[in-house]
Amino acid sequence: MTIEVRNLSKSFAAFLALDRVNLRVETGELVALLGPSGSGKTTLLRVIAGLEFPDRGEVLLDGRDMTAQNAPARRVGFVFQHYALFRHMTVFENVAFGLSIKPRRERPPTSQIQARVWKLLKLVQLDAQADRYPSQLSGGQRQRVALARALAVEPKVLLLDEPFGALDAKVRLELRRWLRRLHDELRITSVLVTHDQEEALEVADRVAIMNRGHIEQVGTPEEVYHRPASAFVYEFLGNFNLFHARLNAWQTGSDALGDGPLGGSADRPIVYVRPHLLHIERRPCGQNRVVARVERINSAGPLVKVQLATDTGETLEAAISHDRYAELQLRKDDAVYVSPRELKAF
Ligand code: ADP
Ligand code: MG
Repeated sequence: MTIEVRNLSKSFAAFLALDRVNLRVETGELVALLGPSGSGKTTLLRVIAGLEFPDRGEVLLDGRDMTAQNAPARRVGFVFQHYALFRHMTVFENVAFGLSIKPRRERPPTSQIQARVWKLLKLVQLDAQADRYPSQLSGGQRQRVALARALAVEPKVLLLDEPFGALDAKVRLELRRWLRRLHDELRITSVLVTHDQEEALEVADRVAIMNRGHIEQVGTPEEVYHRPASAFVYEFLGNFNLFHARLNAWQTGSDALGDGPLGGSADRPIVYVRPHLLHIERRPCGQNRVVARVERINSAGPLVKVQLATDTGETLEAAISHDRYAELQLRKDDAVYVSPRELKAF
């Protein structure tokens, strides 16, 4: 089932929560809505689900206009950040719930319901916990129950609103890989809301980056990361350093910053560099360089983070490999030369 939203706008009182949003999700695709808190992700998801109605625009499912239809008619599965499972029901009963409350003529026979619940519990790897109550499960297990429960009614679309948001980092990482595998198996058209760029870039087929109620860019993780359409997208997708570049270099369309040291005043265009693309040298090398002093070194991680103070008073962050770190033998207060290997300007 495809999902398409056209020109969606939605206000809460005077506040414009969605501002002419257009998005198409293909059948079997997993699209992440990524953006800071308050950018409209949940509102967009709720409008797609039929839990919220837009002021303007349309929601189409498989090309059919569903804008006026309510949530049950749209047959979407929904998983929230804090999915309140029924505390007095076992895992099995929670997953069976959606099927067992169906009107009689739509309800499968009990034996079929049981078979489907077992199949889902195996899928989310909780068949051994079927008789437990939610209070006897970990957070990650609870979210897997919530997902199984959403899937039980065989939705055509799966909408996930920060489903792992309340879990700790390690569990999140496990669950997002697990979700990707599950999605590859089931191929349900899915929209995942997250404010975590790593999660979005790792899990999704495509990412839609939201800012103040509109979509800034839609693309594959590679596209949005390597070809960000705006400064907002670039800034949201990772750490960065800012330079005030020399205007003349940019006017000539050169990728270089011209000769002489970097740095400058605010009336020059802003140039960005990711920490891992900042090269550190002991001796001056190349033309585009900054003189800096090592302020702080943190080697606890896959890359060594080096915080630098430039001679113009700016703080830069470089991330270098442990090999390179050993080679340079950096110490606090050392004087170094820094040059960007890849620059972005907007
Ligand atoms: P996100 O999920 O990206 O954090 P939301 O879609 O929840 O953002 O909210 C977008 C904006 O709309 C926020 O500023 C929020 O305060 C506002 N908003 C959301 N729902 C309501 C509501 N029911 N009433 C009033 N304001 C709302
Ligand atoms: Mg939200």
